[in-house]
Amino acid sequence: MPTKIRLAPRAWAVSCRIAVSYTVATAGVAPWFGFPADAQTPPKTRPIVIAAVGDIMLGSTYPDRRDLPPAGGAMLLADVAPILRRADLTFGNLEGPLADGGKPAKKTGANSYAFRVPTVYGKHLQTAGFDVLSCANNHANDFGVSGRVSTRRTLDALGIAHAGSERDDIAYLNVQGKRVAVLAFATGSVPANLNDIPGAVRRVRDASPQADLVIVSFHGGAEGSGYQHVPRGGETYLGEKRGNLRGFSHAVIDAGADLVIGHGPHVVRGMEVYRDRLIAYSLGNFATYGKFGLSGPTGMAPILEAHLDPETGKFVGGRVHPARQTKPGGPRRDKTGAVLPLLRDLSRADFGKTAVQIRPDGTLLPPVRTLKRPNRR
Ligand SMILES: [Zn+2]
Repeated sequence: MPTKIRLAPRAWAVSCRIAVSYTVATAGVAPWFGFPADAQTPPKTRPIVIAAVGDIMLGSTYPDRRDLPPAGGAMLLADVAPILRRADLTFGNLEGPLADGGKPAKKTGANSYAFRVPTVYGKHLQTAGFDVLSCANNHANDFGVSGRVSTRRTLDALGIAHAGSERDDIAYLNVQGKRVAVLAFATGSVPANLNDIPGAVRRVRDASPQADLVIVSFHGGAEGSGYQHVPRGGETYLGEKRGNLRGFSHAVIDAGADLVIGHGPHVVRGMEVYRDRLIAYSLGNFATYGKFGLSGPTGMAPILEAHLDPETGKFVGGRVHPARQTKPGGPRRDKTGAVLPLLRDLSRADFGKTAVQIRPDGTLLPPVRTLKRPNRR
């Protein structure tokens, strides 16, 4: 099976970030464990900290250059970069090819856009701290094969791993001495298909023995403010099957995945813990410049920080860092924390007892386990 192995320079870069993260952790600046002493027993080793965000499209040269940010986009991610950089592994969904030419591979119109992000913008993703990006989404193929090749070349040159750029494109990264696999699924013909759950299970089962931890990304679900809840069963949108997201997520965890990161609806959705693994059903928009709607819930741009036990992959806690976008786009930390009660309410409403706990300060905790009382007669 074709796989991607991390190159030496990148391993060095990751090691450097681990050293920095460790300094921060030991200095007591940032709490790495979200749970109080009475709630959980902390793992013996420091958890692996994974930061994850939703859709990223930093600006497009198609159809013209009016949708490009000022200063070549250099400041778009600056406000949130410190949070992204301090994680051991930072993930995002790259919603559009990094390419400087070519022709759209699809029909464009009033509500169907083709994105073409200048390759020089890849540097901003690197500077912000991204280690791995999903290219499995409904815009990665906007400029066809040449756009996807250009994206991979650009990311490879920057030392950023990618997953889902082709069907068998799996990223493997070394993080804190552990080998981490990242698989990415979406609807459409290019990446591994979200609607093929048995196929997804096979892929995760194949990758599992080659990695200590497995992260699964999916781009799915209906889009927009009317679709903040995770339905039971399959979803369709604009006549297209957009996945059975609960069924998919549970199946890949049963097959060996340790963390499931969803995006695609442009709004946040709830989070649950299944078999001690965290599922974030949608992280919404993150850095979507130009044509994207950013009003109301579509403006939320949370940064998820998931802490995993490096030995077992279990979710041990974490944090949501609130951020939001306003037109024309670019995430900024949000002191009002508006996304937190929204995420908490959505998680409780959709998942009840398996909902992740979200504290008012953004701390995440596994669900409270209710101990079974002995039967009384
Ligand atoms: Zn999308």
